[in-house]
Amino acid sequence: MMRILVTGGAGFIGSNLAAALLKDSRVGAVRVLDNLSTGSKENLEALFPDGRFEWMEGDIRDYDTCLKACNDVQAISHQAALGSVPRSIADPLTTNAVNITGTLNVFTAAKESGIKRIVYAASSSTYGDHPALPKKEENIGNPLSPYAVTKYVNELYAGVYAALYGLEPIGLRYFNIFGPRQNPRGPYAAVIPLFVKALLNNEAPVINGDGQHSRDFTFVDNAVAANIQALFAANKAAVNQVYNIACGAQTSLLELFNLLKTAAGSALMPDFGPARAGDVRHSLADISKAKELLGYDPLVPVNEGLMQTFEWYRSNRRFLGAWGMGNSQ
Ligand code: NAD
Repeated sequence: MMRILVTGGAGFIGSNLAAALLKDSRVGAVRVLDNLSTGSKENLEALFPDGRFEWMEGDIRDYDTCLKACNDVQAISHQAALGSVPRSIADPLTTNAVNITGTLNVFTAAKESGIKRIVYAASSSTYGDHPALPKKEENIGNPLSPYAVTKYVNELYAGVYAALYGLEPIGLRYFNIFGPRQNPRGPYAAVIPLFVKALLNNEAPVINGDGQHSRDFTFVDNAVAANIQALFAANKAAVNQVYNIACGAQTSLLELFNLLKTAAGSALMPDFGPARAGDVRHSLADISKAKELLGYDPLVPVNEGLMQTFEWYRSNRRFLGAWGMGNSQ
C-alpha cells in the first residue's frame, strides 16, 4: 500500500486526482502539499474526514518543505505550478520561480528521499509554434510564452534526473483539461468555467478572437486516469517519457460555447474580443503513444464531459464565488 504525494492537490486537477487515489485499493495514504495560491481547501473538503488523507500547507519554492513532504512517500504526482499563459506574460519571474525552481525542488527532494516514480504535469504549450497537427510528442517548436518555457524546462530536468539519478519521471502533456472544481474566478480563469459562469448568470461571455480557435478539450477524469496509470505503470518502456493527454478531437471555441448553451437551455449570444497574445490558433493531440505505453484511453468524450461539468457547477454554485487568483492552461 503506497503513500502518494500530490503537489498542487488543492487545485483543480490535483483535487480530482487525490479523491480518485483514495478510492484505489493500491493506495494506503494520499498527502497533499499546496500553498493555496490558486487552489483551495474547499476542493478537498470531502477528503479531510478520511483518515488516509494528509494535508500539508507549504510552498514548493522551499526545498525543506519539499523534503518534509516526501517523508515516507513511495510515489509523487507533481501538479503544483502557476498555470496560465497570460499570467506568465504579466509576471514571468513568479511563474519561473514556482514552475522551474519549485519543480527542481520536488525532483531533488524525491531523489534525496529515494522516491523513483514521479509523474508530473507537463503541457501542450510545449508545442509552441510547431505547425504540425495533430501534435506528436517528438515534434516541438519554439515556446510562445514564459509559461511554455517553464513546462519545457521541467521536461529537460526530468530527463537529466532520470539519466543521472535513476528517477522514473513520466510527463503528462495536458491539453486543456476541464471539469468540476476548475477555478472560474480571477483574471486568469480558463474558458470553460468562464462560459459556464456566464451562462448560469445569464450574461454574454466574451470569446477572445473570432471563435474559430480550437483546442483538444479533455475532461478531467481522463487526466486523472492517466496519472494513475502512470503512477503504477510497470512497463519500463513507459518511464522517462512524455505523453499527450487529450481526447484526440478538436473543438472550436464557438462549438464549445454552443454545446454549453445547449446544456444550459440558453439563447445567449457571445461577444467577441481581441485574440490573446501567446495563444496558438489550433491544437490537437495524437494520443497513440499514451494509448500504447500507458494503456491510456479517454473514456469521457468532450460533449459528455461538458454536460457533467455544467451540471456540477449548476448544483455547486458557491464554487463560482471568490477565492484564489484564477487560472487557465
Ligand atoms: P490549479 O491552479 O487549479 O492547481 C495548481 C495548484 O498548485 C493550486 O492548488 C495551487 O495553489 C498550487 N500551487 C501553486 N503554486 C504553488 C507553490 N509555490 N507551492 C505549492 N503549491 C502551489 O491548476 P490545474 O489546472 O489543476 O493545473 C495542475 C497542473 O497541470 C499545473 O502544473 C498546470 O501547469 C498543468 N496543466 C494544466 C492544464 C489545464 O488545462 N488545466 C493544461 C496543461 C498543464
